[in-house]
Amino acid sequence: MEVDLSYLEKSIRFIKGVGPGRFASLQRLGIESVWDMLWHVPRHYFDWAAAKGLDQIRVGQVNTVKGIVKSISLTKSARGTVVVKAWLEDGNAGIVAVWFNQRYIKQVLHPGIPILVTGKVNMIRGNPELWVSQYETLNSGSPAYRVGIVPFYPSTEGLNQRVLRSIAYQVVQEYAEKYPDIIDPVARKRIGLIDIESAIRNLHFPKNVLDVEPARRRLAFEELLLWQWNVRQLKNRARGELKGRGVAHLGGDELVEQVISALPFQLTKAQRRVLAEIRDDLTRPDPMNRLLQGDVGSGKTVVAALAAAKMAGDGYQIAFMAPTEILAVQHYNSLLRLVSRVPIRVALLTGKTPYSEKRKIVEMAKRHELDILVGTHALITDTVEFARLGLVVIDEQQRFGVKQRASLVGKGKGYPDTLVMSATPIPRTLALALCGDMDVSIIDEIPPGRKRVRTFFITEAAKSKLYQFIRRQVNKGRQVYIVCPLVEESEKQDLLAATSLQQELANCVFPELRVGLLHGRMKSPEKEAVAERFRQGLIDILVTTSVIEVGIDVANATVMVVEHAERFGLAQLHQLRGRVGRGGDQSYCILVGDPKTEEARTRLKLMETTNDGFEIARADLEMRGPGDFWGVRQHGLPQFRVADLGRDTHLLETVHREIAAGLTIDEELAKALSRLHRMENKVNYNQ
Ligand code: ADP
Ligand code: MG
Repeated sequence: MEVDLSYLEKSIRFIKGVGPGRFASLQRLGIESVWDMLWHVPRHYFDWAAAKGLDQIRVGQVNTVKGIVKSISLTKSARGTVVVKAWLEDGNAGIVAVWFNQRYIKQVLHPGIPILVTGKVNMIRGNPELWVSQYETLNSGSPAYRVGIVPFYPSTEGLNQRVLRSIAYQVVQEYAEKYPDIIDPVARKRIGLIDIESAIRNLHFPKNVLDVEPARRRLAFEELLLWQWNVRQLKNRARGELKGRGVAHLGGDELVEQVISALPFQLTKAQRRVLAEIRDDLTRPDPMNRLLQGDVGSGKTVVAALAAAKMAGDGYQIAFMAPTEILAVQHYNSLLRLVSRVPIRVALLTGKTPYSEKRKIVEMAKRHELDILVGTHALITDTVEFARLGLVVIDEQQRFGVKQRASLVGKGKGYPDTLVMSATPIPRTLALALCGDMDVSIIDEIPPGRKRVRTFFITEAAKSKLYQFIRRQVNKGRQVYIVCPLVEESEKQDLLAATSLQQELANCVFPELRVGLLHGRMKSPEKEAVAERFRQGLIDILVTTSVIEVGIDVANATVMVVEHAERFGLAQLHQLRGRVGRGGDQSYCILVGDPKTEEARTRLKLMETTNDGFEIARADLEMRGPGDFWGVRQHGLPQFRVADLGRDTHLLETVHREIAAGLTIDEELAKALSRLHRMENKVNYNQ
């Protein structure tokens, strides 16, 4: 039976005190219905209960006091500031309360009314004055004006806190008890959640500040639960539609074993586990849809190559797409090396491939004369066709649009298996939550024997020492990256910063060394040429923008310097650091920065102490919130009213655990509530 929640969608216009003007203001705040008002979260609260007597005032501090207005005056200072002063008394003492540029206060206050004020007390010409930051008159009969904790809401012009609070009060009084609770009492008790009615009441009008957090937690849980319930619905639907439509790849295992035994190293435990998950998927008749996550250098490419070997061995083709030319070439070379001892045919197709060559490769793919085709976006052009596409591998999936991914998958007849790889170490819970339609495999182990990259955070002042250090490294035959930050909104400026640094280093600081430049504005062939010269050791110091975040793999590069490190996200810094430490030599990452805040400082310090991408990602998420999660490129992480994906990771874990454990959810109620929450806009991350 469909659940009718239309009463929660009743227009806010019908609430007492909401006329056309206020309705327009409410709309600007996104409040159209009573439901919107219930989920309009106070920005903070104010506890008037903390008010003290006027004889307890402390000069130089913020005081909250209660008094009776005795007189009011309005004056204008020489500079035009409107000053309202009120003399307050409480029987024991008195003080002047001062408002600046709030002419209307003169109308609000009358002699005789009780008032609560809070603000800093300053000594002005020998007399204490309380400069009011918040106040509350106590003459209204409404309980929303009670002496106690009052909410302060995000607001807009034409709506003062008093009005908004009174609207909220009416709505909460009438609707909190009518709000359906989707979590049954037994489950609530188990999870440690309060009921929805109390949560709504305490979010808006808590009796005690300690009641706010449980309310917030309950409402955040509601949002995360509905979100994940929808993601799951979507996943089940997709699964249902695709069920049995793929190919059960039973062959190819000998080839996998051959490639493994030819490897110059042992697979790590994590690689073996993840490979088993993938092989298991491939042997099923349902198309695989899997995200392979792992830190830079954790060995994802090897795992993808082994999956490819199985498919080639089973008589199918593999399309392997990377976001950049440099990366495609690198994958091509790695794959060639990895499968060199087995009969697997690999080809490379990029925008740079000469026309005649391209025609030949396209023809070979069509005739099944090659097994693995590695490339860039060039793979999704019209002319490319596969005789028997079995597996699509996409590296750095977040750099491709959904359509591009789909069009590569669409090159197969039927439904090929898909493996997407990402080096952004998203905490598992979040990965699962976001990649609703995908399974997730995580390589959480770095191959043994790697030297930890030593990381130092230095200030601009230590630059000359840094240059000496760089010179010593280069004299030892090593190479160095110097990365300049991407200046937001201005690629041009960005380019300038890198260009002028390169000039300065080449002409003034290291005239005897070879200093190269690589930036995002360069044309592909030019970029590739510079990268190639760096690879061949013809450039000692490469000044670059964050274009190298994915791309160059030079084992001889041992120093990564990041300029203005405070402008980068932690996840991004970690990616950059992953560019060094690829050879046997001790590598270094030097973060140069002048962090302005304690938080920025803490972030850079964290880089010094850990090399674990997942730990860094978690910290980044907690400190900067999900908005900045992927650095410059934003990826439409869903926005919630109460839940915060950075702060509420544990709650999200609880949601997953509960769903997995079979938490009973009334489907029709979940549907109706999801509609109110507009959840359909929040689950399309990977669609
Ligand atoms: P990713 O794609 O995750 O960045 P790669 O697959 O490119 O990592 O591997 C990085 C480097 O580590 C490559 O040079 C690869 O040959 C090497 N490598 C991969 N797996 C192992 C392992 N188990 N033991 C030692 N070296 C490994
Ligand atoms: Mg890789």
